[in-house]
Amino acid sequence: MEADDRLVKICIDAGAYKSYIIETDKIPFDENLRSYCEMNYCGHYGKNYACPPGIGESKELIAKAKEYKKALVFQTVTEIKDSFDFEGMQEAQSRHTKAADKINEHIRKLFDNYLQLTAGGCKVCKVCAQVDDKPCKFPDKAISSLEAYCMNVSTLAGLCNMKYINGQNTVTFFGAFLFN
Ligand code: SF4
Repeated sequence: MEADDRLVKICIDAGAYKSYIIETDKIPFDENLRSYCEMNYCGHYGKNYACPPGIGESKELIAKAKEYKKALVFQTVTEIKDSFDFEGMQEAQSRHTKAADKINEHIRKLFDNYLQLTAGGCKVCKVCAQVDDKPCKFPDKAISSLEAYCMNVSTLAGLCNMKYINGQNTVTFFGAFLFN
């Protein structure tokens, strides 16, 4: 089995619905996406060190991502009762995090230097220390989002042969590992 196929299999075995490896120079980055973070619909803006503005300037983050040659992109898809199923959405998020953690266990052994990105703000701590204006508790473990790095995730999904939305009463989350 080719090395790339093995990485995709690691994702599927960990619970991902789909996974794909894309060259980083094909990832659609868009600095203008930062304005969506600034609208703060998710409530993380300025309340999570792995999110804007704390995470840094768009240009610098895009340049940092481009230092890696490839990205292992994966998605989890979880069924929920309906669009008001808040508990189901939280379970979907937790399921995604567990899959990402499992993948990370393998990636850590394979690469000395890589960048993990996830869905939404860093969830290493139950409440991010930025909320209480304290320093980040685990700077080595903090995980940022694809969106914070200005990736256009809906376009990226298409380039990775994935759907951004996977039908009624489902929740889809994306994650990525950038490596050389
Ligand atoms: S590790 Fe904890 S304190 Fe640091 S960014 Fe993540 S949630 Fe916030």
